[in-house]
Amino acid sequence: MDNNLITVTSPLLPNLEEFYGLLKEIWNSKYITNNGSFHKQLEKELASYLKVPYVSLFTNGTLPLITALQALRVTGEVITTPYSFVATTHALWWNGIKPVFVDVDLETGNLDPEKIEAAITPKTTAIMPVHVYGKPCDTKKIQEIADRYGLRVIYDAAHAFGVEVNGESVLNAGDMSTLSFHATKVYNTIEGGAMVMHDEKTKQRIDYLKNFGFAGETTVVGPGINSKMDEVRAAYGILNLRQVDEAIAARREVAITYRKALRSVEGISFFDDMPGVKHNYSYFPIFIDERKYGMTRDELYMKMREAKVLGRRYFYPLISEFSTYRGLESADPKNLPNAHKMANSVICLPMHHTLRTEDIERVLEQIVK
Ligand SMILES: *Cc1c(COP(=O)(O)O)cnc(C)c1O
Repeated sequence: MDNNLITVTSPLLPNLEEFYGLLKEIWNSKYITNNGSFHKQLEKELASYLKVPYVSLFTNGTLPLITALQALRVTGEVITTPYSFVATTHALWWNGIKPVFVDVDLETGNLDPEKIEAAITPKTTAIMPVHVYGKPCDTKKIQEIADRYGLRVIYDAAHAFGVEVNGESVLNAGDMSTLSFHATKVYNTIEGGAMVMHDEKTKQRIDYLKNFGFAGETTVVGPGINSKMDEVRAAYGILNLRQVDEAIAARREVAITYRKALRSVEGISFFDDMPGVKHNYSYFPIFIDERKYGMTRDELYMKMREAKVLGRRYFYPLISEFSTYRGLESADPKNLPNAHKMANSVICLPMHHTLRTEDIERVLEQIVK
């Protein structure tokens, strides 16, 4: 790879010698998947680190979304956000559910609770919000609406690893939350993911469902799927968990430097920390007001690329603009003005734990005039 390239992310990698030690244990045991000892250990350690009652590991972050909808028997229509990674809506489609897009709030980029009720129909059975960029949704208001209408709430918390509000994990909100441990996320197991649930019975049921529905050698309790995590990636995950705090602290320093330099730049806006929230600094999105800044988002994006600074336009295009979903009534841009505004002005700046001072300076040189 080009050493001069500043990439938007860089994976947190365990120490290779330590990983080799754990691989030797796996080789010696010859137990390489199906709820092995590293799998069990990582589930326990994650529950404790994340301050949640139960965690079930998955092989990626998309399958727990699909499985959560299955487990809760969600059908009909589900209210969700267009401002996310496409997997959020795909999980609905894979369950034969009609996505109903509701606009986001410009202050956070999250589903606007004030706009949810107007989208509820007799077919609505659940709400699937996303804590976009790891910024917590208004979980209290969303739960009030869900309780009033008898709806389930499943959070796609792929960005919200370790995020807390007033000392409590944001992953405890709703019926279930799902995480992604993909290489590009704050905490990774190369590919991987998890579901967070409140009680042991649900954890048991999910553990059956992610293993074809097997509840014993000869008993199948439902049409399950195979989405188990193997021992190799669980071992990798155990090592990465030990250094994730350090990585988040390094990301925080990058965010502080970016904010300090960008605060005075006309036409560039960004998010500040929210009061009472422990953030994970998973992304650093900036939003370009082309009239005030004097350059369009795409012009700046291309200028950065030429200087080998790779930002990413997360989340552009909106999910509602992809051919699969464009035809839905709720995908009408008139229904989603804030989401369109964000998608058309965003660039996520390079944000990871190995950015050096000179890298950050090179990023900022492209933006600060
Ligand atoms: C990454 C991501 C996913 C999918 O996770 P995978 O582990 O890549 O399957 C789902 N939703 C959101 C919001 C994501 O960012």
